Amino acid sequence: MSASSSQIAALAGDGIGPEVMREAVNVLRAVEQRFSLALTITEAPVGWAGIDSTGHALSPEVMNLCKKSDAILFGSVGLPDRDGTVPKEQRPERAALLRLRQEFDLYANLRPVRLYPQLAHACPLKAERIADGVDMLVVRELTGGLYFGQPKETTQLADGQRRAVDSMVYTTSEIERIARVAFHEARARRRHVTSVDKANVLESSVLWREVVTQVARDFPDVTLEHMLADNTAMQMLLRPSRFDVLLCENTFGDLLSDEAAALAGSLGMLPSASLGVGGKAGRSFGLYEPAGGTAPDIAGKGIANPIAQILSAALLLRHSLGFADAADAVERAVADAIAAGCRTGDIRAASDAPALSTSEMGQAIVTHLLHS
Ligand code: NAD
Repeated sequence: MSASSSQIAALAGDGIGPEVMREAVNVLRAVEQRFSLALTITEAPVGWAGIDSTGHALSPEVMNLCKKSDAILFGSVGLPDRDGTVPKEQRPERAALLRLRQEFDLYANLRPVRLYPQLAHACPLKAERIADGVDMLVVRELTGGLYFGQPKETTQLADGQRRAVDSMVYTTSEIERIARVAFHEARARRRHVTSVDKANVLESSVLWREVVTQVARDFPDVTLEHMLADNTAMQMLLRPSRFDVLLCENTFGDLLSDEAAALAGSLGMLPSASLGVGGKAGRSFGLYEPAGGTAPDIAGKGIANPIAQILSAALLLRHSLGFADAADAVERAVADAIAAGCRTGDIRAASDAPALSTSEMGQAIVTHLLHS
């Protein structure tokens, strides 16, 4: 692929979004320098920033920019203080983020969760439970299941009660495509997939288990285990090191990815990728964003941790642009900066050196990227 063809839409959004996006863009500029690449990075406003400047949380122009791009690097959107000022469906979380997920059929949500050994103090588990490390990837189906299945409604009953129903619906093709993502990812890791379901009580889980078992035959080098969702939630706290790739349908993945996130110590450390169909040269189009939100409590203070946004940029380089070496180098630079003692306030122990600002942390990572 010609490096000059790589187009990135950088949508910083609200709150800490612009602060951490600035550092991620700096890292991408350093990647260009180190790997002699040319990335076209076009920044555009979304969320409340979009409403204030264009009248839209996601304007038609920004949507067109995304369609022309190979990938979207997203910050975060939403400001609770302004929630009451527009109808629910116009709030940026729906009008920008959910619209992008729907438009690009972003069906595969990848959340790598890694606890760096130097940050063990930030993990809520006892030292002996994390002695073997925490390094797992949650692969969550994002466009099916309980959140979208029909019927989904509330009806009035004759006896005066109301009755509400949500439907957990999956087709074989929906299960197969997300399972293939999980097995592919496992090949680049420790080759172990835990498929999460409730096959003891749910029809959709029985089908899930059947289809995942079939897909596993195409990946004989990857070990598959099936685990009930309730047991998975417990095992994750008892022995997190036993998990490599967790394959989950939408609802179980929503709950378990947040539980896994808590193990990494701070939301500021956690990137995510949402992959869709399409994309150039057989690669996935994707939207890459920190797991956390706009953090209004610390926005504007220059103290947010930029690592989640920077690691999201690394995932973008790997999955949408095919620059695996550059992605590895960014991830190594983050690990090196942490090993060298660099800490923002959210990951700092009392005995550590004073906390770095957002830009100091970004600069430390750029320095490790260019000089190690
Ligand atoms: P949040 O993730 O913004 O913040 C939760 C806590 O984590 C806060 O204490 C915050 O300071 C901390 N935190 C998050 N990111 C951090 C970082 N990079 N460095 C240091 N600390 C960090 O969640 P919230 O407060 O529930 O939501 C705030 C707003 O963000 C809401 O409007 C919500 O809808 C929105 N939100 C957006 C997205 C998104 O755009 N994908 C995701 C979640 C929440």
